[in-house]
Order: sequence, then C-alpha cells, then structure tokens
Amino acid sequence: DNHVEPVEIEPNVYEIAPTGEMRVPARVYGSESLVEAMRTADDQTLAQIQDVATLPGIQQFAVVLPDGHRGYGFPVGSVAAVDADDGVISPGGVGFDINCGVRLLRTGLTFQDVAGRESMLADRLFQTIPTGLGPGSSLDTDISDVRGVLETGVEWLLNEGHARKADLEHCEENGRLPGDPNAVPTEALKRGVDQVGSLGSGNHFLEVQRVSEVYDSAAAAAFGIDLDEIVVMIHAGSRGLGHQTCSHYIDEFERAYPDLAESLPNEQLVYAPLSDRLAGEYRSAMNAAANFAWANRQVMTQAVREVFSDLFEEADVQLVYDVGHNIATEEHHAVGDDEQTLLVHRKGATRALPAGHPDVPDAYADIGQPVFVPGDMGSRSYVLAGGSRSLERSFGSAPHGAGRAKSRTQASREYAAGELQQALRARGIFVRAQSGETLTEESPGAYKNVDEVVHVCHELGLGTKVAQTTPLANIKG
Ligand code: 5GP
Ligand code: MN
Ligand code: MN
Repeated sequence: DNHVEPVEIEPNVYEIAPTGEMRVPARVYGSESLVEAMRTADDQTLAQIQDVATLPGIQQFAVVLPDGHRGYGFPVGSVAAVDADDGVISPGGVGFDINCGVRLLRTGLTFQDVAGRESMLADRLFQTIPTGLGPGSSLDTDISDVRGVLETGVEWLLNEGHARKADLEHCEENGRLPGDPNAVPTEALKRGVDQVGSLGSGNHFLEVQRVSEVYDSAAAAAFGIDLDEIVVMIHAGSRGLGHQTCSHYIDEFERAYPDLAESLPNEQLVYAPLSDRLAGEYRSAMNAAANFAWANRQVMTQAVREVFSDLFEEADVQLVYDVGHNIATEEHHAVGDDEQTLLVHRKGATRALPAGHPDVPDAYADIGQPVFVPGDMGSRSYVLAGGSRSLERSFGSAPHGAGRAKSRTQASREYAAGELQQALRARGIFVRAQSGETLTEESPGAYKNVDEVVHVCHELGLGTKVAQTTPLANIKG
C-alpha cells in the first residue's frame, strides 16, 4: 500500500505528494476534522483521490473538496482536469446520475406570506410533483419528445412553451450541451419516457426555504433574493436515463479495453482516451443525459410555478440559477504560465466561476456565478458566489453539499422515520416522503456539518457566502 499521509501546506489545504503511479499531487481542501473523516477505513476518500491522480493526462493536481466522501471510483466531491487532447474520460469521474444538480427559484414571497400554510404547501407540491422510483411527470413525453430533450435540453422546452427565455439564461451552459440522442442506448431512452419532470428517490429533494441570513447584501440583491424571502431549491438529476447511460458505457469501456481494468489501481476508474471514438460517443451520450437533467429540473420548475400561483396570487417564481454537479465539460484554464484546454470532471462538485468570467450570466457578471450548497432537511443551506481563488485552487469548483458522513445502511439503522418527521415538524419543517426508508437514510445525522464545509469554502475563496436558508417544507422520493 503506497497511500501516504496528507501534509498541511496552509490552513485548510492539504497535499499528498506523488508516489507510485501518481502523475500529480492530490490536493485536499478541508478542516482538520473534515480531512480526518476522509482517512477512515470506511471512507477512503484520500486513497481514492490518489488513484485518480494516476489518470493519463491529469493536470496540476487531483482535487478533493471539503464535502468529499467515498464514491464509485472517484470520491464524491472531487475534481479531475485532464488535457483535452492527451487525456482520458472516465464515467466514474462524472457519476451515475449524469448532471445531477441544484437549482434555486425565488418566489417574490416573504415568510409572512406563507406562514401557517407550510403544511398545505408541502401537500400540494407532493401531490403535483412525481417522486420516488418509476415514471410520472406533469408533462407527457414519448420517445420522439425525449430525443428532442436529449438534443437541445431546455431549448426544446422553450419551443414547446414550458420555459421562459430567462430560464435558459440563468442555467449553466444555457441548459444545453452538444448531446447526441443516437449515442444514448435505447433502453436508457425508453426509461426517459414520461420522466421529464420527476424528482426521483433518495437524496433528491424539492425544498421550500426561508432566507434566514444575508451575508453580502449587494450579491444577494444581484441574485434577486432578500432576507425572509421564500425560495425553492430543487435537487434532481437525469433519473434512470442517466444511470442506464453510465452503466452502458462502463460496460463498453471494460469490453473495449480489457487490459486496462487489470492494470488500474481500481477497476472503477475505467476510462477511454479522448482521442478514441468510444470516448466521443460517451461524451455525446453524457451531454445528452445532461440536457435531460436540465430539462427535468425545468419541468419541475413549471409545476412549482403552478402550485405557487394557485396558492399565492402575488407569487412570481423566477430562476436564480441552475448548476450541475456530476459532469465533465471542456474549459480553458491557466496551468502554470500556459492557457490550456482541459476536460474538467466534476463528480459531486459544483462549478463556481468568479466575477468577470465569460461563462457567468450577464446579470451576475460583477458578482460571480451563484453556487448552492444544500445542507440537509433539518439544517441550513447556503447561497454562495463563485470565489476569486476558485480557478487557481479547484479549476473553478466548489462543494456541492454538506456531503455524506454515514452510509445509507448505517443511517437507517440509527434513525426512525416517524420520530424524525415529528421532530422536524416541531421545528416548523414539513417533510413528505414516499418511504420511511428515504427519511432515515437522508436523516440530518447522515450528513457532515454544512456550516463547517461552507466556512472552509469561504475562507479559501472557492465560493463566498451570500445568504443562508432554512427549510420550511420538503418533498423527497
Ligand atoms: P448528492 O446526493 O448529490 O451527492 O449531494 C447532495 C447534497 O444535498 C448532500 O451532500 C446533502 O448535503 C444535501 N442534502 C441531501 N438531502 C437534503 C435535503 O433534504 N435538504 C437539503 N437542504 N439538503 C439536502
Ligand atoms: Mn442525483
Ligand atoms: Mn446530486
């Protein structure tokens, strides 16, 4: 075992120098206690990131963010940037739920407008938005519609009357990457039918929140949110379609490169050289599934608009921003003195571009890209702005959540669904879930301390604090 101890090189910054097959160092951001949790035998995040650092074409360092924890091959909460010509693409560096992500809606309502009606709001959202496994959507879609979604994402919905122009402008990549429906396996395509606009199960949620603290009022004003405002956070991905696409290409890669799996430190890191046809096919399929995920969150946004305008005459639901956290995108970055084209894998990591970056929407150009860090159903979540040091430290990335601290099995052993729901209710949080299992697996105790994760992120200049939110109503799968 060549896995070594990380060295603290400045506060909250740890580095593991290359040993063995590592081509670059591993860079780990976190407080002492967060990094300590990544070293445990159960977690193994640090061992995983050293394996990631062996990938051909990897640049500068393999990154773990403060919310990092064990994942399939790559840790959840990691960034790996590879040379766009000589590098490789690995489905494990994107994740099974392709372009799983978070969007935040503002409603124009204040806490006073909804106070006393939170429970009803939870019921109405739960009735309107399909949750859990299997199909269901407020929008009927057949195979040819799904193909349209895969090709042009949110744009397809705009043309069909299910999005506003501003929704596209406030979405990472305008809700559309160059996806090819023909690269998506047929079984995956079928799973997408009647699922555009569904939450899914487990960790996914739709949460009505109250802005409980504002740290930076200029940035909050630019994002259009205010103290006591009601906002809605949606966390969802590409459903069975994305999962099936990922599994399909892992199998294809294993078949195409039989010797590779043998030689890798961990077979879950299986990859394809970017110059190979198969890498191109996977990218076209991944992009298509990413379009599906953006469209999925957009259709749920339309449902939220309906529920809110039904219940509150003065509601005006607008998209603040939408950003994915399981994706690989081609980007230009400074590496040393050179400007390079890189393929940036973000696995459970959010893009966090600083003020002035060309890919930040015009409305936020002087502030930086909005970044969302959900905590858990019982604590706070955060709105940040892409930080001034994110490009140099993490290829423009920030944590995507608090990060899991306990496995699902461990959490369901420790918590009871009924008690949990009651305890939350006593604190004014109304949770609806398809199954008790989801509640216990997603119990607040299953996650790391989001305040600590965000503190590190802020201190390091990955993302700076704009506002904090607290939950009022939450629907889960
Ligand atoms: P993922 O499951 O995509 O890896 O991470 C999403 C993040 O969302 C988790 O790390 C966790 O911090 C957060 N999270 C999970 N469930 C909830 C919830 O019900 N409400 C909020 N606000 N955050 C959650
Ligand atoms: Mn997901
Ligand atoms: Mn996710």
